[in-house]
Amino acid sequence: MRWPSSLRSRLTLWYTVFVSLPLVLLAVVTYIAFAGALQERTDRFIAEALTAFSRELLAERRATLSAEQAIRSTIEEVRFRDLTIAVTTSGGSLVAMTEPAPGSEAGRVRTIERTIQLGGHDYHVAGAYPMRDSEIVLARIRRMFLFAIPLLVLVAATSGYALARRSLAPVASMAARAADISATNMHERLPVGGGDELVRLASVVNALLDRLELAFAQQRRFVADASHELRTPTAILRTEADVTLSREHRSEEEYRASVSVMKDAAQRLTRVVDDLFLLARADAGHLVMHAEPLYLEELVHGATRAVRSVAEQRGVSIALGEVIEAPFQGDPDLLGRLLLNLLDNAIKYSPRGGAVRAAMARDAHAYSITVTDTGPGIPASEQEHVFERFFRGDIARSRSEATATSGAGLGLAIARRIAEMHHGTLVLVESRAGHTEFRLALPSPASG
Ligand code: ADP
Repeated sequence: MRWPSSLRSRLTLWYTVFVSLPLVLLAVVTYIAFAGALQERTDRFIAEALTAFSRELLAERRATLSAEQAIRSTIEEVRFRDLTIAVTTSGGSLVAMTEPAPGSEAGRVRTIERTIQLGGHDYHVAGAYPMRDSEIVLARIRRMFLFAIPLLVLVAATSGYALARRSLAPVASMAARAADISATNMHERLPVGGGDELVRLASVVNALLDRLELAFAQQRRFVADASHELRTPTAILRTEADVTLSREHRSEEEYRASVSVMKDAAQRLTRVVDDLFLLARADAGHLVMHAEPLYLEELVHGATRAVRSVAEQRGVSIALGEVIEAPFQGDPDLLGRLLLNLLDNAIKYSPRGGAVRAAMARDAHAYSITVTDTGPGIPASEQEHVFERFFRGDIARSRSEATATSGAGLGLAIARRIAEMHHGTLVLVESRAGHTEFRLALPSPASG
């Protein structure tokens, strides 16, 4: 027989086996013990009868002359109910025998033999007792067991089945509900109930669904925000191209102006796509860090140099405060990008005549790199959101969308992510009108 695959059948089977096996065993043992007791009682009766017969025979022998005469008269005199006694010589010939009890010819008989010495000769005295009565009783017991045991097994099987069904019902309803949950109804949860273990299982699965739903919602928002960010520059590109191509002839100046707008839009597109790509890879765990030994001060120098011309164009001064030697193990491209994002923001949000300053310091455990600007500051209500993806403050949004440096609100999210990849932190230390300060902290090698 194949082992059933359903848990319910298995439980039923186990239950039935565990209930029936002791039952059958008990019945068999009881039966054997009872049959043994009956036989023993018969044996004792025959033995006692033979003892009485022998005693009587010896007494008779003393009173009569020949042994055979004594035997015959004892057989005549001594009577036991249902017991047949036969005496034979050692040679095997019958000397005397009681009248066979009625019905003793048929059926099994229990026989016990003894040897007795009489007048120098050995005689065999045999007592035979019919087992018919015992057998009738035993047959009745057998019939009772044959009827009762299958009945009890059946009861065990049905109650086992009902029990298994009852305990597994919550599992079935959980499975049914789980099968129904998909992306469109992620808010649904499994029913909780049906005993501690199942409550725990349902809770664990529900907690998993909570996390999945959250991740799903984040993912959906990310995609929606991302498409929104990509729409503006692509729309600009298309409109600009449409307008430019709508007339046959244009001056070179007009073409130049138009291409320059398109270049800005393309640049912005590239920036957004690059940022999205980086975040997507980081989320998927595919962003590989190419960590190598480097000096942070070189990265700080490089980044300030890179933004100098943009700063000058905007009339913002760039200053480098204290710079220390800072050996570090990290990805120079990613760390450079982090610093550029901070400096970029500082310049972007500073008014003409503003000053941006980068500085380094070191304490027992960490390097810190601060970027400060003298811009308008970030409103208190926005400060806790600046590191969120796609978050852009009011000033950022009120600007013309078309400029190549206007970000998609991903710059600080990426910067913080890069800091975390290097086991560091990036925080907004302070922001008020005239002073905004971001601080990057990275573990210094001495701290291990
Ligand atoms: P964005 O692409 O808009 O610059 P970021 O993630 O770099 O996105 O910054 C998020 C928001 O934080 C910005 O829109 C802006 O409102 C605010 N912010 C960031 N840096 C500064 C700063 N130095 N001064 C003022 N506001 C800032």
